[in-house]
Amino acid sequence: MSEPADSSTYSTYRRLARYVRPYTGRLIVGMLAGFLAGGSVFPLLQQLPEVIKPFEIAGTAAPAAGEKKTGAVENIVEKLDIRMTEADGRMTWQFMLITLWAMPVVVAFRALMNYLNNYYMRWIGMRVVRDIRDELFLNLEEQSLAFFGKSDVGQLISKCTNDTGIVEQAVSNTVAEVIRSPVEIGAALFFVAWFSVRQEMFGLVVLVSLVFPLCVIPIIVMGRYVRRYTRAALDRISTLVSRMHENFTGIRVVKAFDMEAREAARFREMNKSYFRSVIAALRAELLMTPLMEGLAILMGCLFIVVCYARGVRLYQILPIGAAAVFAYRPIKQIARINVCLQRGAAALERIYALLDTDTRLPIAATPVRVDGFRDRVVFDHVSFRYEPDGPEVIRDACMAIQKSHVVAVVGETGSGKTTLANLLARFYDPTAGRVLLDGRDLRELDVSRLRKLIGIVTQETILFNDTLANNIAYGAEDAGPEAIQEAAKQANAHAFIMAEARGYERIIGEKGFVLSGGERQRIAIARAILRNPPILILDEATSALDTATERLVQEAIARVMENRTVFAIAHRLSTIRHANLILLLDHGRIVERGTHEELCRADGRYRKLCDMAAA
Ligand code: ADP
Repeated sequence: MSEPADSSTYSTYRRLARYVRPYTGRLIVGMLAGFLAGGSVFPLLQQLPEVIKPFEIAGTAAPAAGEKKTGAVENIVEKLDIRMTEADGRMTWQFMLITLWAMPVVVAFRALMNYLNNYYMRWIGMRVVRDIRDELFLNLEEQSLAFFGKSDVGQLISKCTNDTGIVEQAVSNTVAEVIRSPVEIGAALFFVAWFSVRQEMFGLVVLVSLVFPLCVIPIIVMGRYVRRYTRAALDRISTLVSRMHENFTGIRVVKAFDMEAREAARFREMNKSYFRSVIAALRAELLMTPLMEGLAILMGCLFIVVCYARGVRLYQILPIGAAAVFAYRPIKQIARINVCLQRGAAALERIYALLDTDTRLPIAATPVRVDGFRDRVVFDHVSFRYEPDGPEVIRDACMAIQKSHVVAVVGETGSGKTTLANLLARFYDPTAGRVLLDGRDLRELDVSRLRKLIGIVTQETILFNDTLANNIAYGAEDAGPEAIQEAAKQANAHAFIMAEARGYERIIGEKGFVLSGGERQRIAIARAILRNPPILILDEATSALDTATERLVQEAIARVMENRTVFAIAHRLSTIRHANLILLLDHGRIVERGTHEELCRADGRYRKLCDMAAA
């Protein structure tokens, strides 16, 4: 994977900010609270010289007469004519009372602001990730079948869960501090500047402003590593999830081929490589703080040496030391925030790539909302290939499916029968030619209206891990229990459903695990009957069923075909004898067409197929 430029951390989060916009009100409250919580360091620091000074006075000589008074508190105290210290340097009772009152007020205020800041910022973080997840799911649902043909489901699931999880952590853990820590550092720096100017130590201001940015170097360098290894880790965890998904869904094959140990070994290898990238990211993360501390100590030493050389008095530098102690926590926080942000950026890049995927079929400017099927579906010189540079799977197909007719398509496996059905349901658009419904190109139609007209009973019956009733009512959510039962009866499914105590409320396991093949087919047929579409695509099952079940399924199929226009993909010739039109497909080309009798009379390939089937 190519490595994106680091400057994109900014653009990554700028895009994330778009998701924050709807919650601006909360953001302002949260930020304001953060600002106040962070900024309240300053008044605390301001008092420090006053707190320290009595010690100095007591410990050494009294300050020289006429020396500048320092500190706002002292000014206020003086104006109110309240003495802070007795003549012997002990604190006065007035000063003690003021301090006793002020300290809890400041602390309570700070705690409240912290709470508001954390609550609102984290709320926004969670909410943003919730919105992203919703958008991601919707966007994926809308992708074309071509996209899902190429994508790895495990990887998609991993991106929707692991990657959004990382973003959730990144946003929730940082968004509160993102505002607070810089404010705290700013407050400490401002205090140092203010104090230095007051003490006429201008050199110090210059020194701090020159040396302080050095602290940021390890944050930037190590941050890059964190991002790189996190990206690798996310790629690898996706592969892990994908392996798990493949293995668990194909567990029968794994077991049948006795591949459990081999699969476990492969999994261990991948897991190891995931572990390695996580550890590499961790190393970079953990190195960040000591590197920064090293630099900070170096700066501290330099500062002490400069102060000593200039003969600065201790009480002049102690407040600066205190400011450094105050700034230490937020600086460390900034390092931590950066780790989270870099991790989040790695995940966000992958999420954005998915969000920017648009493989949806083109939507007409003014889609026609058809409300019924009246006349015919026509394939007008339709050609199709799945890949732009792949082989042509359908070649110049022309045919018409009249209303209430049964059109059956036969041909060898891979001749393009399913592809024709896919084009009819507009799962794909033809590469050349048109598919017309009542004279209108499918591309002009509103897709959801089109799909309402078409029911599909496929070979592979897809059922969901839900109750039987809900599976039958899939796509017809407003159907009542009577309608569901009626559909099940027509599909010859009612009897086996009621044979179980829970009846229609029975949960059928993932993909209908608890049902037999014939039962699953009848549920799928009941589903189509309930939805009652005018056009039915029937992909007959190839799997062999026992004679009794087959008869039940055939009966159900006959019922679902009644009064409908049917496009049937036939695997057994016996079932299509009565079709109004039979198409014989060979390598994507319709090579023979007609009724059963006509084709038999023509004595072509269809006749040979019939003879072979009869033999
Ligand atoms: P049939 O239903 O007659 O067995 P299909 O319509 O499924 O045939 O497939 C026709 C051809 O198209 C086959 O060669 C198959 O490999 C190819 N094909 C089917 N689906 C896809 C796909 N999603 N991507 C690429 N090729 C495909």
